[in-house]
Amino acid sequence: MSDSFQSIPGTFDILPHTQSTSADTVASTHAWQYVEETIRRVMHRHGVHEIRTPILEPTALIARGIGQLTDIVSKEMFAFERGSTQYVLRPEVTAPVMRAYLQHHLAQLGGVQRLYYIGPCFRAERPQKGRYRQFHQFGTEYIGADDARADAETILLAVDIYRELGLTDFTVRLNSLGTAASRTAYRTALQAYLRPLAGQLSETSRERLESNPLRILDTKSEAERGLLEGAPIMLDFIDEESAGHYGDVKKHLTAAGLAFEEDPFLVRGLDYYTRTAFEIDSPVLGAQTTLAGGGRYDLLAGEIGSKQDVPAVGFAAGMERLFLALESAGIELPKAGVPDVFVVTLGERAGDYAFPLMRAWRRAGLSTVYDLKGRSMKAQMREANRQEARCVVILGDAELDAGTAQLKHMDTGEQQSVALDDLTGILKTAYVPTPE
Ligand code: AMP
Repeated sequence: MSDSFQSIPGTFDILPHTQSTSADTVASTHAWQYVEETIRRVMHRHGVHEIRTPILEPTALIARGIGQLTDIVSKEMFAFERGSTQYVLRPEVTAPVMRAYLQHHLAQLGGVQRLYYIGPCFRAERPQKGRYRQFHQFGTEYIGADDARADAETILLAVDIYRELGLTDFTVRLNSLGTAASRTAYRTALQAYLRPLAGQLSETSRERLESNPLRILDTKSEAERGLLEGAPIMLDFIDEESAGHYGDVKKHLTAAGLAFEEDPFLVRGLDYYTRTAFEIDSPVLGAQTTLAGGGRYDLLAGEIGSKQDVPAVGFAAGMERLFLALESAGIELPKAGVPDVFVVTLGERAGDYAFPLMRAWRRAGLSTVYDLKGRSMKAQMREANRQEARCVVILGDAELDAGTAQLKHMDTGEQQSVALDDLTGILKTAYVPTPE
């Protein structure tokens, strides 16, 4: 064990079965596929189309797109240099999607581009439950949209995905950050309020006081939260138009029947956010409570080189966090699908006879499996049971001589002798699903 290779801490293999350790659970590929299909279905209902961008991006895109001073850029990027080019393994997908939108002139298609993604992201964080170095995000970006309905729809889309999966225990928190000017004014006011209290702040917060004071509002420390009680709040600084937009977002969410909490300290650390900011938290997640976060990022396109302003709004959600929440809520996820037919063969002649036959069954749509190790009849039957095959076909020399096979229907336990010539037809009738 000790001299064999292991996956890098903070990364994991996703296997056909669930892996549970005392520290963590990794859902099976079947569960992942089911969750991904659910996401795709809900996206489709909202007219949102998938975009796939590279894992590798130019470092400058990420550094400018998510702000030089964010933790992600300063400490958490997997970045490297080759020749004279700087590469980064994408830590998030919003900046790459906006890059693709600009690069391919998607604005020319007219209207709002409703895009979604599902895929891996990389951050060099200290691994812990719910926080990994390679993790997976799904999310959506509505690009070219300034209508408050887009903000509301983005939030409702995430909520619909969680509900469709059976998750009900989560909270939506909402705030508005106004425009760049209101953020600057707020930033100054917050600094003025916090500077006299600097001595009571943690070292990290003291550093942030000058570089990115809004991040201090995210603090988890009770003592710091206490200090923030009298702090100025963002909403008092936002301009009239942003206040109107915020009112509209709340109006649409209310009309949709969604309960949400207004959180004046919800800021999201990234500089390109304007107006709407939101987070979806799950109380069952423990230390890493955030399932998804998002908001409006009208300034991102300009940050990464667009001459035109491109209003946009979106969310990003963690897949692993979602699995943790589903597990805590006791929601059962699908396991491997069962085979339609398990073929038990005895001896080489039967094995050779069955081989092309099984191919025909597979082409007809029957999931057909067999034992590749030439084990005993008993071992093959045990395997058929373990895999919960819907029926078993038994073929040996005696059956071949008689031109028959034994067919056992596993739901009823009924076993019949069937003429080999009729076998394919019988299996198709009994086990190929009829199109609806
Ligand atoms: P962010 O881009 O930081 O707003 O992250 C969006 C979502 O991705 C979070 O709400 C989490 O659900 C998830 N997430 C972010 N970082 C990690 C990580 N290191 N490991 C697992 N999930 C993460």
